[in-house]
Amino acid sequence: MNMQSKLTDYGFNTLSIHAGAAPDPTTGARATPIYQTTSYVFDDVDHAASLFGLQAVGNIYTRIGNPTQAVLEERVAALEGGTAALATASGHAAQLLVFQTLMQPGDEFIAAKQLYGGSVNQFGQAFKSFGWHVKWADAQDPDSFRRQITAKTKAIFIESIANPGGIVTDIEAIGAVAKEAGLPFIVDNTLATPYLIRPIEWGADIVVHSLTKFLGGHGTAVGGIIVDAGSFDWSRTKKFPVLSEPCASYQGVKLHEAFGDVAFVTACRVLGLRDLGPAISPFNAFLILNGLETLPLRMQRHCENARTVAQHLSRHPRVSWVNYANLTNDPCYGLAQTYCPKGAGAVFTFGIRGGYDAGVNLVNSVRLFSHLANVGDTRSLIIHPASTTHRQLTDEQRAAAGAGPEVVRLSIGLEDVADIIADLDQALAE
Ligand SMILES: *Cc1c(COP(=O)(O)O)cnc(C)c1O
Repeated sequence: MNMQSKLTDYGFNTLSIHAGAAPDPTTGARATPIYQTTSYVFDDVDHAASLFGLQAVGNIYTRIGNPTQAVLEERVAALEGGTAALATASGHAAQLLVFQTLMQPGDEFIAAKQLYGGSVNQFGQAFKSFGWHVKWADAQDPDSFRRQITAKTKAIFIESIANPGGIVTDIEAIGAVAKEAGLPFIVDNTLATPYLIRPIEWGADIVVHSLTKFLGGHGTAVGGIIVDAGSFDWSRTKKFPVLSEPCASYQGVKLHEAFGDVAFVTACRVLGLRDLGPAISPFNAFLILNGLETLPLRMQRHCENARTVAQHLSRHPRVSWVNYANLTNDPCYGLAQTYCPKGAGAVFTFGIRGGYDAGVNLVNSVRLFSHLANVGDTRSLIIHPASTTHRQLTDEQRAAAGAGPEVVRLSIGLEDVADIIADLDQALAE
């Protein structure tokens, strides 16, 4: 099937299986092969020169691109409704390349403080050493983003469904703040996936993912991706010189002028990925592609199971509260109805009566759940943040991060929901 002219005609399930892929022209292989090669033979010197000069599109070296990776990129771009995508070695690598393309030393960006813990570290610690400064805002107060904007601000960053505890963000309202200020709006859509939320439809200019979680979906491969909405005008001001000004390493080409609505991911690839190097392995791209084929089926079941478990826990005598946006009394219920009517994802937190010791006891007593620091696996996962991921923080910092002594985080898997509930019940009874 030639997808190029037909992508927009197909539904989400079809795109999850077919977008970007075609039978291998040489062998007829129907599944996308793992192109396990570092480099590609040029037709002749002119061909090589045109590839290196960005006049032709094609493969040069697997640090910059690979045919297995290209299928993954086209598929995720189609699912998100973007113009193009760039897959990377991890979700963090995707974020690094996005900001490296946008920021100069001394610049600032504004991020929601309700973020994946690793992103809080990356933005607050590692980025500081590059001279990129994060200012924190409150995902539940769109105006708090506006108040932090200065002449040096280069972007606004949020998660669509935010860590911890599955807060649903008012994407459109925060996107409006970015648009009014002429700033690119970046949305990490990892916990929602495009099955539940398509941030570009709500104003995102750039979408990033950790492919490690629900998109790969089986807990087998680390990866990340950057999706370009093609919506941002990089040349309206001189704020983004990497995109608007002549590029020294490509004979003075202006990337936005030359690449139009795919300029952003092109810059991330031909400069960021080329020079910093966090390429995804072809094998990981293959595993994640396999996972993507069942994304809609898996997300449907993840959400159904999560809702049933959340309802059960909310009635459990040893549970003091449950934060899940699909429960009618949850503060995010209204936003969830707007942004993700199909479900609020499968990651949520609850409070266990008995505090720290009860939390430790629970993770020690589960049998079916895996006690580990990940989300978005076929398997049900559990973690007690206060004794693990947030152990090094002070009590005040833990409380502010939503990781108090009584907090337990679950990522609900695809097992029979009766087995998931029975495991929690026996562990809570311990
Ligand atoms: C896991 C995760 C990341 C980081 O992705 P890696 O693939 O682990 O580098 C970023 N954002 C969110 C929301 C995540 O869950």
